[in-house]
Amino acid sequence: MNANHRSIQVRLLYVSHAVGPQTTTMTTSILLQAQAHNPSQGITGVLCQGQGFFFQVLEGERGRVNTLYRRICADKRHQDVVLLHYEEITKRQFGQWSMALVHLSVDDPKVKMQHPDFDPYSASGAQVMQQVRDLLAAGQEISITTP
Ligand code: FAD
Repeated sequence: MNANHRSIQVRLLYVSHAVGPQTTTMTTSILLQAQAHNPSQGITGVLCQGQGFFFQVLEGERGRVNTLYRRICADKRHQDVVLLHYEEITKRQFGQWSMALVHLSVDDPKVKMQHPDFDPYSASGAQVMQQVRDLLAAGQEISITTP
C-alpha cells in the first residue's frame, strides 16, 4: 500500500431467499452478529427481511465490505444470493446504523402503492435501493443498532 493510498468506500446491495422461516430467533442472531462485527469493521447498512426475502445494503471500505459479503454469501441461513448493485461512494446513505432492520411486508399499503409488482429478483438495483429508502422514510424499521 503506498503513501498516497486512500480508502475507497463502496455501497453494495444484494437480495437472497431465506432458508426456512424468518423467525425472530434467526433475525436476532443475525443482528447480534452484525452488532458484534460491523462497528470494528466500519461497516454500516440496512437489512430488510420479510416474505421469504432478505435484501441488505452494506457500506464501508471496499476490502472490508467485500470480505463481509463473501462471509454472508456462505451463510446457510439463506440462498440464491444475487448482487444487485455495487458502487464507489463518497458519502454514506446509511451511515447512522451498524445495521438497521426493516420489516418488509408487501401487503403494507405504502409498499403496495410505491412498488405494486415488487419482486427483488427482477427489479433493478436502483429500484430495490429506492424501496429500502422508502421503507426507512416510512418509519418501517423495527430495530436499529447504532455504530
Ligand atoms: P464465527 O464463525 O464464530 O467467527 C469466526 C471468527 O471470525 C471469530 O474470530 C470472529 O470474531 C471472526 N468474524 C466473524 N465474522 C466477522 C466479521 N463480519 N468481521 C470480522 N470478523 C469476523 N454478519 C455480520 O458480521 N454483519 C452483517 O451485517 C451480517 N448480515 C447478515 C445478513 C444475512 C441475511 C445473513 C444470513 C447473515 C448475516 N451475517 C452478518 C452473519 C454472517 O453471515 C456470519 O454468520 C457472521 O459474520 C459470523 O459471525 P460469528 O461471530 O458467528 O463467526
